[in-house]
Order: sequence, then structure tokens, then C-alpha cells
Amino acid sequence: MSNSTKYVFVTGGVASSLGKGIISASLAKLLQARGYSATIQKLDPYINIDPGTLNPYEHGECFVTDDGAETDLDLGHYERFLNVPTSQANNVTTGKIYQSVIQKERRGEFLGKTVQVIPHITNEIKERIQILGKSGDYDIVITEIGGTVGDIESLPYVEAVRQMKWEFDDDCIVIHLTLVPYLAAAGELKTKPTQHSVKQLLELGVQPDILCCRTEHELALNLRRKIAKFCNVSMNAVIESRDASTIYDVPLLMQAEELDKIVLEKLNLSAKSTPDLAQWKEFLSRLKNPKSEVSIGLVGKYVELKDSYKSISESFIHAGAANEVKVNVKWIHSEEFTSSTSEEILSGLDGILVAPGFGSRGISGKIETVRFARENKVPFLGICLGMQCAVIEFARNVLGLKEAHTTEIVEDCKSPVIDIMSDQKEVSNKGGTMRLGAYDCRLITGSKVSKAYGTDKISERHRHRYEFNNAFLADFEAHGMKATGKNPETGLVEVVEIEDHPWFVGTQFHPEYKSTVANPHPLFVAFVKAVIDNKKVNSTLVK
Ligand code: GLN
Repeated sequence: MSNSTKYVFVTGGVASSLGKGIISASLAKLLQARGYSATIQKLDPYINIDPGTLNPYEHGECFVTDDGAETDLDLGHYERFLNVPTSQANNVTTGKIYQSVIQKERRGEFLGKTVQVIPHITNEIKERIQILGKSGDYDIVITEIGGTVGDIESLPYVEAVRQMKWEFDDDCIVIHLTLVPYLAAAGELKTKPTQHSVKQLLELGVQPDILCCRTEHELALNLRRKIAKFCNVSMNAVIESRDASTIYDVPLLMQAEELDKIVLEKLNLSAKSTPDLAQWKEFLSRLKNPKSEVSIGLVGKYVELKDSYKSISESFIHAGAANEVKVNVKWIHSEEFTSSTSEEILSGLDGILVAPGFGSRGISGKIETVRFARENKVPFLGICLGMQCAVIEFARNVLGLKEAHTTEIVEDCKSPVIDIMSDQKEVSNKGGTMRLGAYDCRLITGSKVSKAYGTDKISERHRHRYEFNNAFLADFEAHGMKATGKNPETGLVEVVEIEDHPWFVGTQFHPEYKSTVANPHPLFVAFVKAVIDNKKVNSTLVK
């Protein structure tokens, strides 16, 4: 079958967490830098329809796309590397596949047939893989299969890959990411797990074309030869993937290993030009040669698992590089402190970010953090729940509304400064029902945010059910907390700022979802800049 779009599958073996997402994003970056349009898709073998209902402790952050999909955090990496937005079609779960097949069965679309994993589930998977290919927007679609080969739950995906490889022939290749562990006692790298993992793929009918071998040490020629020989791949298709000091090094490491070249060769595509990575390298050089350091506290309730705030920490990396400063993020658990310990925990920070979140756990620590940042004039960014906490704190301690709260936590509170959105009142299903995705926002000219963006019209992504209660707005504004960004259609408050403060901004939207290497987010860049300025002022005061 001839097909204009080429498909690259990325599977994983031996162990989870080898970084399929980063390898996929790095390959896509190299192909993009050669002039090909590439996109990346993630197939997740779990039964949830999407990760929106998952606790961040399960799989880390839930990433949100412009079109309102709640997705795997790997999509964040794809966007940060490629600087191209992803969409609903870029993340598919087993739950979505089964939901769609069962709905078709109910509509009678299978014409009396018995509905089975093969062919119905595998056909649905193949269709989902090809949605992006058929859109005509991409030369190459890279599809990452979540989980590890051999898992029961990923079997239908591997079977779909086998079928596509058969049907699409040289328009389709498989990259298998494996681990070559180092045995310290023997002082050796071991290839047997890789051999077994490839054998497992072969048992399922899939011969990988390229092996990417994660390793802590150099993969010597004799080991490459051994892997090639026992896994039926050519020598130049055994790629070393060494641990990197930053994920942003990986495209260059893969370029040195010629991963992009061998992929193009196997797909019968011309190499076009050599990849233009000038901007990428410039970013890396700024990242690796900071002129100074700042420390920013990230206060949240999932800080034990750093993946829970992946987009925020990556945004700090982008904004740090843009400002030529190293941002040391201090992860602070919001449950850890009270008004008596906040001084001790928070003093010494050059800036403070209060993270998004849900529910009551850790909320008082977040509100206390806001008080500290406001009173001590520490640059502050509050995102989503972080912005809502800033509003609650201001109401309690400046407006004197001692019982101010969000109705998410105290439903019948006396001063509901944060309240459920009216169109959320009747919603009882939890999955996919929040206010999700990109909405326009109009900024007040001259505000800190409009200066940061350099424009008054922006669009940002959302994920929330509660909002600023406009019944209280006049009181807030009279006391110095201004709504400097609003949805132009509904008047929903998107941004609050405190005038009499070096830099105090709360956003109902999530700026972190849109920060990329090519376009560090303006709000993070401005926040880090304010943090640097604050540090300078403080150090002159101390002198
Ligand atoms: N829980 C809050 C709401 O639903 C904030 C959500 C968030 O921080 N993403 O409005």
C-alpha cells in the first residue's frame, strides 16, 4: 500500500521510565530541523479515558492542549521541543479505544458481527494512529506506545503496529528503546536484557528496525556488534542513548548518533538539509552558562513527585535561560507549615510560586505562603488554585473578610470570593467536564501582565471549575488588587495583580502549558526577571 505519511513507532523494553517521550521528541526535533513536518502521538494502555481523573501521584502532571484535551505529560515535552501545539488526536488511551468501539457496537455499526479485540480493537487503534497522518499536515507521525513490551495491556497496540508494518511496508518503522544496564560488580554493560526484550517483540511478530540503547556508559563497538547480531538490526541502527545532564541535550546526542539519518534512510526519505539547530544550541548555551542564580519556592501539595509540576519546572528552565540565570526551584510542601513556621521556610527565597491544585489538603499552607509573599514584597506568581489562594488571602487579611474562602472547600462559606462557575453547577461527572483548553483574555494596558506579554490580547489554556466571584470585585479593586485580565465575553477574571508590590500576579489560566524552548513563556520570563531584580535590591539593602 502506498501512503504519503510515514509512521515511526517507538516501543519500550526492559524497564519503564527509559524516556520514550524524550527520544520521540528529540527525533521529531531533528526531523523538523531538517525541514520535515513531524508530530508525535502517545498511545497509553490504561483504561481511563484520559488522565484528567488521575491523581498526579499516578502519572504526574495532566497536560492540557489548546482544544481542551487532558493528556499525558509527554505531550508537554512534544510541544516544548517542537513548538507546535498538540491536540485531542495526539493522546489515545485504551479507555478511549474501547469507548469508541462499544459506542459503534451500540449503534449497530458492526452489522451483527461478534466484536473482538482482533480485529475491532486493533482496527480502532490503527484508525487513531492514522488520524494525524490523514490530516495531510505531517510528513512523519511518530507514535509512542506507552508501557513496556510484554505487558498484557499493551498487546493490542503491538499487534496494531505489526499489522501496520505489514500493510505499510517501508512507510513504517519501529524504534525499540531498551536498557543496557551496567553491572558494577562485574564492571560490564550487559546486553542480555535487550536481547530478551527484542525476542519478546519478535514473538509478537515485530522486528524492530532501530534499537535505542539507554546506558550509563559508552556502548563500545563490540557491544553494538553483539546487539546488532543477536537482534537482527544493522550496526548503524544500534543507537547509544547515554544519560544526559539535561533533556534538552538529547536531540544533539541523537544527532551525533545519526538517529535522524538512519530513520530517514529506512523510510526512504531524502536527508534534505543538515538539521538547523542554531536556535536550539543558543538556548542550550544560555542554559549552561548562567550569569547568576536565584531560588524560587514552588509551593504545592504534590512536591514529592516532581513530575506533578513538570510544565512549571520546564517553564522555569526556559525562562531562566532567557534571563541567563539559573533558577533553583525549591520544592515546598504546602502541608508543612503554619503561620509560625512560614517565616523560617520561606525567607531566603527570591521568588514564590503557588501551584495549581484541587481540594482542601495543603490549602492553608498555600494561603499562608501568599500572605508571606504579599507582605514581604517577594515576587509572586499564583497559578489557578494559586491565584484563587491569593484572592482568598487578600480578602481575609486586607478586606477583613475573615471567612472568605472558595466554595470548592467550604460550600456555604460567608464570603465566597471564589465560587463555582454557573455552567459547572449542574455538572456531576468528573471526567472532561471542567472549563478546559484555550480561551481569549483581554489585558488592561499598562498592567504588569500586558507589559510582560507585550500585547493586550492573549489566549491561554485552562483547567478549572471555580472562578473569581465578581460580586466582590469592586471591593478588591478599591483596596489595590486589580483584575488586569478578563475573558472578553464573560467577564471572568483571568488575572489579578497587586499594584503596590514589585511583582504579584495570579492567573486563572495555566501559562506553563505554553512555554517552549523556542518561545519561553512571557509571564515566566517576566516573573524570573522580577525575581532577579528583587534579589539585586535585597543584596544592596544588606550591604
Ligand atoms: N481547584 C480549582 C478549580 O477547579 C483550581 C484548579 C487548578 O488549579 N487547576 O477551580
